[in-house]
Amino acid sequence: MKTLLTLTATLSAAILFTACTTTSVAAPQKPRTIVVWSEGTAPTNIYPKDINAAIVEGLKADKRFANDTIIAASINDPDQGITDALLAKTDVLLWWGHKKHAKVSDDLTAKIKQRWMDGKMGFIGLHSAHYAKPNKALMGTACSFSCYKTDSTSTKVTVTDKNHPIAAGVAETFTVENGERYGDPYIVPAGFTCVFEGLSSLKDGKTDNAKMVFAWENVNNSKSRFVYFQLGHETNPIYFDPNIRKILANATEWVMPK
Ligand SMILES: [Zn+2]
Repeated sequence: MKTLLTLTATLSAAILFTACTTTSVAAPQKPRTIVVWSEGTAPTNIYPKDINAAIVEGLKADKRFANDTIIAASINDPDQGITDALLAKTDVLLWWGHKKHAKVSDDLTAKIKQRWMDGKMGFIGLHSAHYAKPNKALMGTACSFSCYKTDSTSTKVTVTDKNHPIAAGVAETFTVENGERYGDPYIVPAGFTCVFEGLSSLKDGKTDNAKMVFAWENVNNSKSRFVYFQLGHETNPIYFDPNIRKILANATEWVMPK
């Protein structure tokens, strides 16, 4: 009996030690805050809860963000969706805009730029947000394309940098239907990596190739990161697409301040 008690005690201690060890090794990462902003102009038959909600849904389904807070913010919310308190804890800001760029306050734009310049936040510009105030402020260029066309029937997206973390786990080639295309060149700073490109099939039988995902790192002394994602017209439900969601989740993790 004494032996059994000793064995039981020893086993209990071993289990306790294992539990403590396991707990310390598997300590959860510090929760991060991810904000997905949009202006509320997407058609509700395509995006019933707007584009930001669709992107939030995709990010929440990714296990890497299980401990994080992911927020859908809108220009229609107080302080245009990004209060000082929220911005002060935002690790990644994703931005979709189209018709209301001019309504975004210069004050908010300056605060977003400052946090990014300080290396405290990554930024992802989505589709027509290329002309958004924060996007242009961070890039410091015109952020214009050579053309904006609705003359394509589909775009074949292909990974161009297989080793880039943003491409991890994404199909090497997939097709986006009914895309609106922007033509190269995109007037932005040099030094980016093109992670995906897209070959659009045009209604006249021709094709046009353009860069789809741009990624910058160490673009200033703060080592802040930036991604621009060309796809994502509001009449196209691609933010529900598994490949698109994977790219955005990878991009969110990649721009996250380390
Ligand atoms: Zn568009």
